[in-house]
Amino acid sequence: MPFATTNPYTGEVLKTFPTATDDEIRQAIGQAHEAFLGWKETPFAQRSAVMQAAADILRRDIETYAPLLTLEMGKLLGEARAEVELSAAIFEYYAKNAEAQLAPEKLPVADPAEGEAVLVCDPLGVLLAVEPWNFPYYQIARIIAPQLSAGNTILLKHASNVPQCAAIFEKLMHEAGLPEGAFINLYAAHDQVEMILDDPRVHGVALTGSEAAGAQVAALAGKALKKSTMELGGADAFVVLADADLEKTVNWAVFGRHWNAGQVCVSSKRMIVADEIYDDFLESYTKGVAALRMGDPMDPATTLAPLSSQKAADDVRAMIEKAVAHGAKATPVGPEIPNQGAFVQPTILTDIGEDNPARYWEFFGPVSMLFRAKDEDDAVRIANDSPFGLGGSVFTSDTANGAKVARRISTGMVFVNHPTMVKADLPFGGVRRSGYGRELLGLGIKEFVNHKLIDVV
Ligand code: NDP
Repeated sequence: MPFATTNPYTGEVLKTFPTATDDEIRQAIGQAHEAFLGWKETPFAQRSAVMQAAADILRRDIETYAPLLTLEMGKLLGEARAEVELSAAIFEYYAKNAEAQLAPEKLPVADPAEGEAVLVCDPLGVLLAVEPWNFPYYQIARIIAPQLSAGNTILLKHASNVPQCAAIFEKLMHEAGLPEGAFINLYAAHDQVEMILDDPRVHGVALTGSEAAGAQVAALAGKALKKSTMELGGADAFVVLADADLEKTVNWAVFGRHWNAGQVCVSSKRMIVADEIYDDFLESYTKGVAALRMGDPMDPATTLAPLSSQKAADDVRAMIEKAVAHGAKATPVGPEIPNQGAFVQPTILTDIGEDNPARYWEFFGPVSMLFRAKDEDDAVRIANDSPFGLGGSVFTSDTANGAKVARRISTGMVFVNHPTMVKADLPFGGVRRSGYGRELLGLGIKEFVNHKLIDVV
């Protein structure tokens, strides 16, 4: 796809950007490598000051950064402000914690007479980040804040529909005092990713996006013997046990499924509700979804944003049709969609049979799948019957039991009485087709370091 800003609310193409040439890419790799040679020797205190400055600038200039998100991918302006703050929090988190997280670790040795064994974390070098459009800043922040803190340098290939978000982040890091070349935005095409990964100066790739993109880029990384982390799709279970507080649970369900217009890998996509309260839940949930207000995402009165593009909306509609063709019941909810903008009618899917392939899909939009569970065991069974394993949640008034049920759900993150949360101080990542590796915290920063043993005998 060519890099362009297309406003998902008006459909207007506002700006296009030329794809980088192979020569420009080779030059950028060279610059990032040169920058690495200096940056890896830069003391933590200096790296930390750059991360803190990035956080401070984002907070100071939130009214410059936030509207650009809404303009390019359509999220509500309030959600855009929250994303800027989340990104700032991630920079600040690593400004404060990176040094301790990467501190040398003395290993317990069986026989002290054999000497001292220490594990140190050395940066690897230039990394490639391939990022999606759903959280254009947060996705960048969660890879560059830890990896720059660790001493690596980064090339960014952002999604083709958020070129201005990518560019302003490069400017942000420059303004924060990052040395030239340590973070470079490239308008690279898919087929240039192989060239980047084949370059011996590039040492790994972190990708967030679809399974298809993940499979292709992971294969290229494997061929080049480079480390990769993959944050892919999800179809989070939202398990409602019979003793859940119905009103609070429904409010969280409406939010969990519809924030960011439902385009979150950890959206609550599958509501699995205990038989005893299924009918009441469905009734209240339908009312909650019907109360959402679609419209201009810049308008504070709007509570449901358009999707990121007309193509994204068309794709979701086609998936609903296929689910129905396989026997599901689709109930359109709420007022009709506005006559402009990449909107999809909020839809509740029920009667999704065991043989309906749609139960294994990820609907990236305002589509809720509801499942009736016979009991707690059945709810766990349905929750785990998914190719994905990213997040999930359990709603119950017995939180101790909620934690037990959470242990039985096979994903990377489970929350009791809250939809899957994204925070600067919680790790993020999944299992199975949701990918591998973890982002954030000490886990994230250690994905791309050389855990080097120094053994002094
Ligand atoms: P993609 O996975 O296609 O895009 C994510 C990033 O990967 C973009 O930068 C994209 O570039 C790049 N990319 C895609 N294919 C390749 C390739 N073969 N080689 C190199 N780079 C590639 O996401 P979509 O926008 O198509 O979204 C489709 C689905 O992806 C959603 O329905 C959802 O299931 C999932 N998704 C999951 C996300 C998550 O947070 N886990 C985020 C976004 C999407 P370009 O834009 O130039 O194509």
